[in-house]
Amino acid sequence: MTRKIALITGASRGLGKSAALHLAAQGVDIIGTYHSAAAEAQSVVEQVQALGGRAAMLQLDVSQSGTFDGFVSEVRRLLKDVFAQEHFNFLINNAGIGAHASFVETTEAQFDQLVAIHFKAPFFLTQKLLPLISDGGRIINISSGLARFSLPGYAAYASMKGAVEVLSRYQAKELGPRGITVNTLAPGAIATDFGGGAVRDNSDLNAMVANNTALGRAGLPDDIGGAISTLLADGSNWITGQRIEASGGMFL
Ligand code: NAD
Repeated sequence: MTRKIALITGASRGLGKSAALHLAAQGVDIIGTYHSAAAEAQSVVEQVQALGGRAAMLQLDVSQSGTFDGFVSEVRRLLKDVFAQEHFNFLINNAGIGAHASFVETTEAQFDQLVAIHFKAPFFLTQKLLPLISDGGRIINISSGLARFSLPGYAAYASMKGAVEVLSRYQAKELGPRGITVNTLAPGAIATDFGGGAVRDNSDLNAMVANNTALGRAGLPDDIGGAISTLLADGSNWITGQRIEASGGMFL
């Protein structure tokens, strides 16, 4: 049987890396992207290979939409040369940055960067990759718990995630005729490098999260990698147009 292939943006570390390793354990091959950490990306390739899978990494800055056509050509070449396929099956729009600024203090430059990375990229990268996604494929857009509950300092970031949640529903509707499912996965606060590693390294913030989470702790990357691989498993094929939150029950 042909092995399935997942394309994950921002797969060099954090949630994208965890998704890559959970999917590889499930028998899915990986095309990942990294921004600048080529060595970390290569380490993920080796970890996927150790699980018996195939993996390749491409450099991509998702804030530069002018490079997307070239990126799509690279993916097409990689599919042919490395995987002997014309299509990949799963797209996970995961790459992103944290930015903490109150509504009053958010600058236009911060806003423009967040909109480029968290909204324009999932919109146009997905649009341009569509011919390479197999019919019956699946797309997961990573949102955030912050699009449901409001914490001071995330007005711009959370608004972009809210936009992605609306986009996911439209994509689910318009891509349904091709059998492609589209869902939003919204992590709660997870201990990664995100936002300068604050959830992981700031003990006050970590305790605040734990105290407001039904399961009593902050999330870990594997909590999200596991949720993503579950959403891409065979039994999840009838789920589309949904927002699924994986937050351990944050601010219920
Ligand atoms: P992380 O900082 O550990 O990893 C982010 C990944 O995105 C890295 O691989 C990085 O290289 C990539 N990236 C960042 N800017 C990029 C750019 N301009 N072009 C290409 N790649 C870029 O963070 P994470 O926690 O793994 O976050 C992954 C996703 O999850 C993001 O979309 C984030 O908004 C979302 N999220 C994170 C949390 C959390 O608490 N960690 C909570 C909710 C949502």
